[in-house]
Amino acid sequence: MSPDRVRAVSLSSDRLDVALWGDESAPVIIAHVHGNEQVALHAAAQVVGRRPVRLVGLAPQPRRRQRIRVAGRLFDFDPNRMWTLAGRAATLACLGGDAQPTEREQAAALADLADYAERAWHLLGAGQRPIVAAHNNADGLLPVDALLGEPATLASCRIPHLPPDDFLYVCHPPAYERLTALPFAHAVLRDDTRAPDDGSLSVRCAHEGVPYINVECHPARGDRNRDLLLAAVDALLPR
Ligand SMILES: [Zn+2]
Repeated sequence: MSPDRVRAVSLSSDRLDVALWGDESAPVIIAHVHGNEQVALHAAAQVVGRRPVRLVGLAPQPRRRQRIRVAGRLFDFDPNRMWTLAGRAATLACLGGDAQPTEREQAAALADLADYAERAWHLLGAGQRPIVAAHNNADGLLPVDALLGEPATLASCRIPHLPPDDFLYVCHPPAYERLTALPFAHAVLRDDTRAPDDGSLSVRCAHEGVPYINVECHPARGDRNRDLLLAAVDALLPR
């Protein structure tokens, strides 16, 4: 499970390690962003030996929110909310102590987070390759049913006997067609033009026209998690 390489991203007064598996020039990228979702990372690492993928691990600390120190103060952020200006402003929080950060400290931390997100984006292929995001979805956190009535949902394929935590959230119509030709998992197709800017990786991909699939799977089902990731990668590989 240890990565093939670790790249340190240096910021103004801290550094974050990015773990890398697989060939740098692989045609599909798998992104892992939440450090508390280790089953998804294990499942993604199993895909590396089976498909031409590059796995990029952006969660050096085993927690959902990652931490950075900026000018002596500790901040944290959700790495799946750092990909746009609005997302960064909403997710960045100063930790520890009662004293609020000054405007200058807050601005410095936002600049560091923007710098980190930009360099992470380059490690994710800089918009030149499709991306699969590997997530775990615990009981009831985000059931597929919650997405079915959303304005941004363009189409969906719901399979009655399967658990609602495991699904493919697809932002690329051709991949959705491939994944639902023989239905084997819940799949939802998102209309990128109607998705709110929450700073998630899906929004950045939509802005830059990058095909994107989010794989959600309950952490108790590691093999299923791997199989869903394999299917998502296959749907994005050239035919
Ligand atoms: Zn996640």
